[in-house]
Amino acid sequence: MATPTTSTPPLTITENDVAIVGRLRNGYILALTVIIIMTIFCHHLTSKVIEEEIVGAEVASNLSDQITHISQIGRYAVSYYMTPQEFDLTLLGNSINNMKKSLLHIKTYIDSTQKENTAKIALRKAMRDSLLLEKRLTIFIQDSETYLTLSKRIPSTDPTAAATETLETQRALKKISDKPNQELIKLLQISLADHQENQLYEIKNLHQMQTVLTYAIVFIILLEAFFIFRPLVQKVAVSQKNLMRLALEDTLTGLKNRRAFNKDFDAYQKTLSRTNEKFVLAICDLDKFKSVNDTYGHDVGDLVLKHFGTILKRTLRPTDIVARMGGEEFAILLANTNDSTAFKILDRLRQIVEKNPCPLKGKNSPEKLKFTTSIGFAEGPIDGKEVDIDEFMKWADNALYKAKEEGRNRVINGTPKP
Ligand code: GH3
Ligand code: MG
Ligand code: MG
Repeated sequence: MATPTTSTPPLTITENDVAIVGRLRNGYILALTVIIIMTIFCHHLTSKVIEEEIVGAEVASNLSDQITHISQIGRYAVSYYMTPQEFDLTLLGNSINNMKKSLLHIKTYIDSTQKENTAKIALRKAMRDSLLLEKRLTIFIQDSETYLTLSKRIPSTDPTAAATETLETQRALKKISDKPNQELIKLLQISLADHQENQLYEIKNLHQMQTVLTYAIVFIILLEAFFIFRPLVQKVAVSQKNLMRLALEDTLTGLKNRRAFNKDFDAYQKTLSRTNEKFVLAICDLDKFKSVNDTYGHDVGDLVLKHFGTILKRTLRPTDIVARMGGEEFAILLANTNDSTAFKILDRLRQIVEKNPCPLKGKNSPEKLKFTTSIGFAEGPIDGKEVDIDEFMKWADNALYKAKEEGRNRVINGTPKP
């Protein structure tokens, strides 16, 4: 008989395990918070890009409106001067009003100090300092309004006064239709191109930030998946496995516990209706085990229990089910075995136990403790019916009791006689 070894790792959860899970959980929450903040920021950037694009488009549209109105007003003014009967002055008036409105939009935009950026600063400079566009445009509007007022006037009947009025109107017309306005249009075009370029630069910057942020989020999610989520899931899987083992395994011997044995016995009985084979349920109880504890201590008692568990595992077939039911009591289900074969198997087991005392100190310890076991068993099935495990236990227990009474270290068949 080889020296018993335990292959099952111990079922322990250390304080370190709990601390690791705690740290992983905190890391998970932290990473999640960072991801949420970055996602919100990314969303904010996207909104900003869209907003910039809208504002940029509006301002560009207002600037190009100024260009359109300058040439339109000039054309209308000339048309009216040439053919006043064919031309409706309200068109000129509308054009002036629209120009005033779009200029007001531009002013409002450059006056607001909120959401300052290079495009706005450059446009403000062009409007107020370098190109003096605001001033020039205001003068143009004033000149246009003057021309409109003069044009609406009822011509004087006095020829001298009429000649003076015509001169005034011509002068006013010259101001709004003449070459200097071509220069104003050119300046506006430069300013418009400049603004669009600056706006594009702003949007590109925002877009770049957004790309960096998106990569950072993906990177954090990957880090979290590898260094937090994966180990966390692994810990959970290990804990689940341990829980399963705790629920179905006897921690001292590594054998099945009572719950697992009952479950397996029920499952086995269910298969019997198909095969109709015989089986044997046996109970082993160590003899005078109390005196082992009393003489050598509880730890030695535990060693003996483990040693006995190993003998059971090594002696019986892999198809047989072995469990520690509690204390120094073990149950065996010998599948596909009748009572006469079972007697031989169990008596052989009894002899092996007798001949293999438990080593007390280390593997090759010379100090060995002799011990014996008594075994009671019962054969099933009864009349081919499924019988409650407690019924078999009772019969096997009675036989065990008999074995103890008859002097211990023996095997007794407790199958009820028909
Ligand atoms: P018998 O031959 O009639 O079975 O006598 P016994 O002394 O074995 O019977 P008893 O039921 O009086 O004693 C069983 C002892 O088993 C009592 C208890 O201290 C011991 N025991 C139960 N569980 C454990 C355990 O997990 N470890 C150890 N070391 N001893 C245990
Ligand atoms: Mg007992
Ligand atoms: Mg006992």
